[in-house]
Amino acid sequence: MQNIKPMRPISPFLSQLQSQFLRQLQFQTQRTLGAIALACATCALLLWLGINPHRAGANPLPQPPHIVAWASPTHYAERVKQDIYGAPARNPFIVVIHETVGSARSAVHLFQAPDYTKNGNQVSYHALIRLDGTIIYTVPFQYRAFGAANSVFMGINGPESVQTNPQVPGSVNNFAYHFSLETPPDGRNNADTHSGYTVAQYRSLAWLVGFTQVPQSRITYHKTVDRTHSRKDPRSFDQSYFFNLLSSNRPSRFSTRS
Ligand SMILES: [Zn+2]
Repeated sequence: MQNIKPMRPISPFLSQLQSQFLRQLQFQTQRTLGAIALACATCALLLWLGINPHRAGANPLPQPPHIVAWASPTHYAERVKQDIYGAPARNPFIVVIHETVGSARSAVHLFQAPDYTKNGNQVSYHALIRLDGTIIYTVPFQYRAFGAANSVFMGINGPESVQTNPQVPGSVNNFAYHFSLETPPDGRNNADTHSGYTVAQYRSLAWLVGFTQVPQSRITYHKTVDRTHSRKDPRSFDQSYFFNLLSSNRPSRFSTRS
C-alpha cells in the first residue's frame, strides 16, 4: 500500500495572503484619505486667509514659502460697513507697504502678545515678508489690521479715510491690506536709508499683491498715507523694480485695470 503523505493544508497560506492584502488596502486607503484631508486643510487655510486658491492661475509667479503666526485678536478688529457718523464705508481696497525696522521675529512676538490697553498701542500687519522671501501671515485678510493709525489715502476722487472710533482720528485701516518687508540688519535704526530688500522679498510681495488684485493706482506706502509725518517706511524701496516685476507678472487683464 502506497504511503500517501497528507497534503499540507492550504488555508493558512491563503489566510496569510488575505491578511497581507487587507493590510495593504488599509494602508493605501489611509494614505489616500490623508492626502484628501491635507488638500482640504490647505484649501480651508487659504480661504480663511481670504485667498481664493482658484485665482492661483492668475498669478504666474510661483507661490512663495509661507508660515502662519496669528496675531492676538487684541491687535485687529472687524472691518466696519459704516463709519461712526453712519456713512457707508465702501472704499475699494488698497495695499499699504511697510518695513518692520526690527526683525520679523520681533514683530511677530509683538503682535502675538495680547494688549488690552485702550491707549492705541495695538499694531499689526496682514503679512510680513522675511529677508528670505517667506511670507508670514499674521492677520486674516478679512479683518482690519492696525497698520496705519491717523492716515489718509489720496484716491482719484479725493481723500479716503474711515473713522471707526470717536477717540481716534480716521485711518485707511478699514480698507487696507498691510504688508511689511523685513528690514535688513543695516537698517535697524532711524537712518533715512539702508541697503534695501532682497529679490526674494520683492518677488514674494509681487505674488502677494497679485493675489489681492488691487490695481497699481491703489498701492501705496505707510509714509504716504501717514498724517503724523513721523513715518518713513518703507525706506530704500525700489518702486520701479517692484512695479516692473508686478506688471510683468500680472496677466494683461489686470494691467489694464491699473
Ligand atoms: Zn509702517
